[in-house]
Amino acid sequence: METARHSEALEARLMAEVAARREALVELARALIAIPTLNPPGRHYRDICEFIAARLEPSGFVCEFIRAEGAPGDSDRWPRWNIVARREGAGPGDCVHFNSHTDVVEVGHGWSVDPFGGEVIDGRLYGRGAADMKGGLAASIVAAEAFLAVCPDFAGAIEISGTADEESGGYGGVAHLAERGYFSPERVQHVIIPEPLNKDRICLGHRGVWWAEIETKGRIAHGSMPFLGDSAIRHMGAVLHEIETWLYPLLETRHTAMPVVPEGARRSTLNINSIHGGEPEPEEGFTGFPAPCVADRCRIVIDRRFLIEESLSEVKHEVLSMLERLARERPGFSFELRDLHEVIPTMTDRDAPVVQGVARAVQTVLGRAPEYVVSPGTYDQKHIDRIGRLKNCIAYGPGILDLAHQPDEWVGVEDMVEAAQVMALALADLLRAERTPR
Ligand SMILES: [Zn+2]
Repeated sequence: METARHSEALEARLMAEVAARREALVELARALIAIPTLNPPGRHYRDICEFIAARLEPSGFVCEFIRAEGAPGDSDRWPRWNIVARREGAGPGDCVHFNSHTDVVEVGHGWSVDPFGGEVIDGRLYGRGAADMKGGLAASIVAAEAFLAVCPDFAGAIEISGTADEESGGYGGVAHLAERGYFSPERVQHVIIPEPLNKDRICLGHRGVWWAEIETKGRIAHGSMPFLGDSAIRHMGAVLHEIETWLYPLLETRHTAMPVVPEGARRSTLNINSIHGGEPEPEEGFTGFPAPCVADRCRIVIDRRFLIEESLSEVKHEVLSMLERLARERPGFSFELRDLHEVIPTMTDRDAPVVQGVARAVQTVLGRAPEYVVSPGTYDQKHIDRIGRLKNCIAYGPGILDLAHQPDEWVGVEDMVEAAQVMALALADLLRAERTPR
């Protein structure tokens, strides 16, 4: 009972420390939003890394700036800068790492507030990246600061990273760091990614991805005599017909045990991201007519999201066999199928220490058990899992996922505070701070 009372007192102090930093948390999130780290092309990455370092160094963090030279998108004009900040404790122990991406997607149209103004209206902080995920980054920084104020003699280490390019695949960010050992199990034991999954949900992983390009071939001829050519667009029409009538009904039948949210994503899905056929679109401002030609090629990009119950090779074979069937049955049909990108599904075990530690913290702060979810799309956990070989990783952070990338994106101030309390308690739990002498 002595231990239980002791840890209850610690939890109460941590929650009070975070609550007392409410204004500081809002100011920090606003300052992060004000740095327009738009990706593409990847603006102000160095600026935001320096801002984070200036914030963390007074708390004893040692900051490393790592440029992902040679990564896709990296250039002297648009360098891919990342920061890894590490605060060593008083003795040996586990390391808890908070990883946030610093990039935001384009602003787009339809905003009623300044996207980089960080306005607070009715308890909501507005801005591009407010939810995805500068609110989460700010919450993790304030959680660490509050934890250090209460448990200055903790054992182990805390790391906070700000990484580039999550929105464009993470190759200039977490993948680059993982390849250089920053997520190796010897260095880091627990990873929390504060993506906007809601303050009461723990995200265990994501579905898999396969992007591919399908090209159909034809023969160019004059558009007034199409019978002299062979239309790649008509061949692609046959592909689309197969997708509609054979593949989609098949995918509808595949359900997963993964707790994917929203529920519509609890099965296999396929999107056709783009279609291009025939002559290129005229340049903007060109006022002439297009030329009459039979299309000699047509391409689509497919985005197949698959389940932990499916294998990537089966997923690919399904599409390949559909195209081969068309090649057998349809005169003149020929195709190319090119892989563009693939990610294997991942799901952290519910018994994993980081899941358990954050779950206990959610229970304490919010008075209810968390909901366990899986993301329909991927995020940087894929690199930590596949390259870093670190399984003890989740996404947990404030904000509503549906608001990400939308106009008038916002994060609730109260949600940020409560998520920061959960993170501070999770730090104490995972670093076993209740045993630290004071
Ligand atoms: Zn994000």
